[in-house]
Formats: sequence, structure tokens, C-alpha cells
Amino acid sequence: MNAFENAQEQLKRAAAVAPIDPTLLNSLTVPEREVTVSIPVVMDDGSTRFFEGYRVQYSSARGPYKGGIRYHPQADINEVRALALWMTLKCAVAGMPMGGGKGGVVVDPKKLSRGELERLSRGFVGRLHLILGPEIDVPAPDMNTTPEIMAWMNDEYAKITGDKRGATFTGKPLDKGGSEGRSLATGMGGFFVFEALKNKLGLPAQMSIIIQGMGNVGGNAAKILQSEGHRIVAISDSQGGIMDESGLDIPAVEAYKKAHGSLKGFSAEAGRPSAREISNAELLELSCDVLVPSALENQITKENAPRIKAKVVLELANGPTTPEADDILFARGIPVIPDILANAGGVIVSTFEWEQNLKGEHWAESAVFTKLRNILSKEAGGVWQRAQALKTDLRRAAFVVALERLVK
Ligand code: GLU
Repeated sequence: MNAFENAQEQLKRAAAVAPIDPTLLNSLTVPEREVTVSIPVVMDDGSTRFFEGYRVQYSSARGPYKGGIRYHPQADINEVRALALWMTLKCAVAGMPMGGGKGGVVVDPKKLSRGELERLSRGFVGRLHLILGPEIDVPAPDMNTTPEIMAWMNDEYAKITGDKRGATFTGKPLDKGGSEGRSLATGMGGFFVFEALKNKLGLPAQMSIIIQGMGNVGGNAAKILQSEGHRIVAISDSQGGIMDESGLDIPAVEAYKKAHGSLKGFSAEAGRPSAREISNAELLELSCDVLVPSALENQITKENAPRIKAKVVLELANGPTTPEADDILFARGIPVIPDILANAGGVIVSTFEWEQNLKGEHWAESAVFTKLRNILSKEAGGVWQRAQALKTDLRRAAFVVALERLVK
């Protein structure tokens, strides 16, 4: 099943545990609008290449479409549709006045020069500006897109449309209208959700944690969780991972990756005798208290779910667990804290950024994180109670909460 079929299956499962308005469910089987574009980019060698891109505007029931833009060689329309539907539910579960959307460009950004990347990013806005805007659709970063890319897009939008409010893109750099706390927000939000639920989940005070992914989300989550006294026993990037039962020093791991481009060779370095290299597949199946998938979709499937040894799964990636795997984990008593709740911190602080831009304000980081913690503690508690009342898993409960808000 592709990611969009999985997302649709999750909707059906939620509707089976609570009465959900059938017209709403029908409306969520297809996006309100989707656009495919071809973006011409003049390459450094003078040739012109065309990159395929998408923007899926799934639902505006609760406000302007909201969601990131992903740059990935395997980006495809079904993935973007799934991500846009999840954004719709995520904004609803977080109580944000936003709808759901997502974008993608089929590109390996590591193979482009900085100039080519800038021209591609500006070209994306050139093709799509008519359907973007603070009251229409507000994109943000996602996999492989950065604050700098948001700044280029924001600038291009202002040039084309004359709209200088700077509220069409979020996740911008601080000196270009970005919000304090935005780059840490997804990892921090995951931590707040986890803090709100850890006693209910019966987890110990000091935990062993495994993180798949070292991008903005996984890398920051690792640092935050380690600084809170937890032991990160394994971490990976797209090429593979490392493990160390006694706990990895995350700043050292990050410095190594920066210097060498990958984690290969880290464990062989002097002074780390208990570290060893592992594959991403092995990493998911190691024993730990909490497994934190923070990379791509479809990582925990019916094949490996029977062998997952974590006590709890905290989904910081979007869609890392398939519906069949959900059933296997539920039957095995392994709770999954679902993506639309666990990783909502990013879009919540994006919404704060949009609000600050529109009001011409700049909030302190402490104010941003206090608001973020309050929202996520409350919503996590609500989803937990709903799951207990419905005798179901946290994903179905989160979907039910979101769907009820969408009906309203
Ligand atoms: N890309 C992030 C997500 O998947 C953030 C979206 C946003 O900030 O709009 O939730």
C-alpha cells in the first residue's frame, strides 16, 4: 500500500470506533485541489533542467492550507497527498486555525549547487504564487528544506505579488521574520507530548531511546532527550546507524557526521569501544524503552512489527507505521504515540510565526515554548482520555478528536 492508501485506511479505522459525519469522511477521500508543476532551472553549466513539483491543498475547513514542502528524489504525488491529509488532521488535533496541505519536488538537493537550489526554490513559487498567500496556503519546511530555502521563497513571493507581510511561508530564518523556537519546535513538541504521557505509559524516569533519522527533527529530539538525562542508545541517518548500550554523546555524533558526511567509521574511532555500526533495519528492532522514528514513512510494517522490542513508539516522522503494523503493536501492548500529535510542534510554532508576521510582533523563545507546552500537554491528555473511553489505540483516538473538530 502506498502512503495515501495507508492514510485513507487510518481514516476508515477511526470512523469505525466513533460516529463520524459521513459527508466529512467523503470530503476527505480526495484533496480539495492539487497542482503539478514543471519548474525550469538554469543549471550552472548553462543547460536547463525541468523538475516536477506538487502542491496538494487537502482541506481548508479550519483555515488556510498549511504544510511543508519536501525535496526528495522519491517524492511522488501519493506521498504528498498522504502528507497533506495528515497535516489536515494534525492542525485539527493541535487546535490550530489552519487547514492541511503539502508540497514536494522530485529532486536530490545534495546534487544541486547552492545557486541551483535557490533558482529551483524561487521557480517553485513562480509556478504556484497564484494559489499561495497568508489567507490561502502557507507552506513551511519539511524533509531537506531549510530556513534559507523559506527565505528565498518568501522573497520571491513578495517580489511577484507585492505582499510584504512575510506571512506566506513559515520556518524562515530569525532575521527574515522567522519565529524564535521554530527550528527546535518539532523535537521540542515531541518531548512535551512524551512528558505529558510518560507516566500514563508506565515508563521509567530515565529511559533508553533509539532515534531513526538525524535531520532537523531526529537530531534535535536526540539532543533534547539526552539533555533531559535519557540515554540515546542508537541513532541513524539515511545511510545507516550506530549503537552504544552505554549511551551515545549526541553532540559528538553530530560533529562526526558534519566532518565525515555520514556515521560510517564513528564506532571505530578511538575511545568508543562499545559503539558499533548497524543498519536502519537492525536499529528499529533493538531493545529500548522508546523508539523514535524521525525519518520516512513506512518504516514499521507487518514484516518487522512482530520483532519491535521498544516499550513505546513516539512517531516524530510522518506515517512511519503502517496500519497492519499498528494492529500488531497494539496486540503486543506497545503503544504508538501517533505522528499527528507527536510531531505537531513544528506546525504549531509555524502558526505562531504566521500570527506574529500578520500582527507585526516578535515573541520571546520562552513565551513560544510555554504556549507550545500548554497546547501539547492539553491535547495529549485529551487524546489519551479519548483512547481510554473508546478502548482503542492513540492513533484512532487522535483521528477521532481531529475529525470531530473538522466537522464543526
Ligand atoms: N513539515 C512539518 C510537518 O510535517 C511542519 C509543517 C508546517 O510547519 O507547516 O508537520
